[in-house]
Amino acid sequence: MTAQDTIFGKIIRKEIPADIVYEDDLALAFKDVTPQAPVHILVIPKKPIPKLADASPEDQALMGHLLLTAKKVAEEAGLINGYRTVINTGSDGGQTVYHLHIHILGGRQMKWPPG
Ligand code: AMP
Repeated sequence: MTAQDTIFGKIIRKEIPADIVYEDDLALAFKDVTPQAPVHILVIPKKPIPKLADASPEDQALMGHLLLTAKKVAEEAGLINGYRTVINTGSDGGQTVYHLHIHILGGRQMKWPPG
C-alpha cells in the first residue's frame, strides 16, 4: 500500500472531507477526527512520505516547512501558552496512519512522559 492509499491521501485529494485549517502547495493541516486535547490539529506533507524514518536528505526543506507550518497553525489556533508537537513513527511509536504527520496538541496542560 502506498501512502497515497492512506486516509490522508484521500483528504489531500479531497476525496473525503476534513476540517482543513491551512493549505499550501506543500502542506495541509486539518483537525484530528478524534481530538486528544481541546486543540488537536495534524500537519502533513502533500508528498506521500509514510513515516519520519522514510524522509530523505532531499526532504530537508520540506521538513523545515512542515515545522514552520505547525508553528503558524498553532499561532492561528490561539495557543499562546504553548502546545505539544508529536510525530509518531512506526509500530513502537504508535503510528496508525502511514502518511507522515505532525500532531499539534494544545489548550490544556500536557504531561510528561507521554504514554
Ligand atoms: P498516528 O496514530 O500518530 O498515526 O495518528 C493518526 C491520527 O489520525 C489519529 O490521531 C487519528 O485520530 C487521526 N485520523 C484518522 N483518520 C482521520 C480523518 N479521517 N480525519 C482526521 N484525522 C484522522
